[in-house]
Amino acid sequence: MYPRLVVDRDKLYHNACLIKNLCSRHGIEVVAVTKGYCALKDITDVILSAGIEKLADSRILNIKRMRNECINNYIMLIRIPMLSEIADVVRYADSVLVSEMDTLRSISEECVRQGRWIEIIIMVDVGDLREGIMPEDVADFVKEASKLRRINIAGLATNVGCIGGTMPDKDNISRFIEAVYSAESILGRKLPTISGGSTCTLKLIDDGEMPERVNQLRIGEAILFGINDVCGRDIPGTYKDVFTLEAEVVEVKRKPSKPIGEVGFDAFGEVPHFEDRGIRKRAILALGKQDVIINGIKPRHAGMTIVGASSDHLILDVEDYEGTIGVGDVIPFDITYGGLLSVSTSPYVEKVIL
Ligand SMILES: *Cc1c(COP(=O)(O)O)cnc(C)c1O
Repeated sequence: MYPRLVVDRDKLYHNACLIKNLCSRHGIEVVAVTKGYCALKDITDVILSAGIEKLADSRILNIKRMRNECINNYIMLIRIPMLSEIADVVRYADSVLVSEMDTLRSISEECVRQGRWIEIIIMVDVGDLREGIMPEDVADFVKEASKLRRINIAGLATNVGCIGGTMPDKDNISRFIEAVYSAESILGRKLPTISGGSTCTLKLIDDGEMPERVNQLRIGEAILFGINDVCGRDIPGTYKDVFTLEAEVVEVKRKPSKPIGEVGFDAFGEVPHFEDRGIRKRAILALGKQDVIINGIKPRHAGMTIVGASSDHLILDVEDYEGTIGVGDVIPFDITYGGLLSVSTSPYVEKVIL
């Protein structure tokens, strides 16, 4: 069945081993982030088989499913939780990122109710301006948090390179480490988990600027794609083509490249604009916006370009493609992290691991 997402097991395993070893040489444990592929069990199993032991996801629904699939590994919830999901957080997650005292109180109450403990990792914002406590407020927050019942403050975490696009650097990571020290002086003990960031924070290892105290990174993209998009860096020795999206051709014809007649709005309320390139050979694929974010894919073969897509059809210009192409052929695409996320959430795309 097409479209389908094909996962290369060996390449994924190789990437996972490489990232794990790269980090462990610097005293850093890898927490594998599963959100990019909706925690699909076959993929998670490959990553676990590479010796990575901890997992993280942004959705409690995915974590719950992993538990139902008998994944008993340590799992971290990496989106600061909603008050409405605290019961499940306490039930299914081993640790959770937190930045609000109200949330923490609710977690504490729920832990008492369920007779459980959960590890709390306090999120610190060092400049990306998504979630987290500002560094100067960490001491007060920790003081309050330490009074709560059944709350194990396991460490601090930070994140850059997301909403703000802030890159990890010496400055912001040392602000984070200062926050760690201020939390530790309030608690009177050393914190075991210092979670320094995501894939983009690998840059600090690269640059020789990773502080010694950082002992954990939460990594998705580097394992799955072998790249670090925020910094635009390649991670040497990794495969970039673990994933392939395949779609089937349902029409091939030579047609004008400029729509005929008066142009109004397209199916998505936008006014399309096409350059007149004369008569071109076009292939229609049974793939559309219901399957994948179109700007998250790129034809793997030279001589093919995406002309446009609707909910169910993708038009490829194949005039310059040197091979032959006909109805029933399967066309491979490279896919980005965002593209992977979208196919993972689409029930129309089959997922196979080879
Ligand atoms: C998504 C996410 C990660 C992983 O990011 P990658 O770029 O895939 O490595 C880590 N931490 C948090 C809080 C996240 O939301």
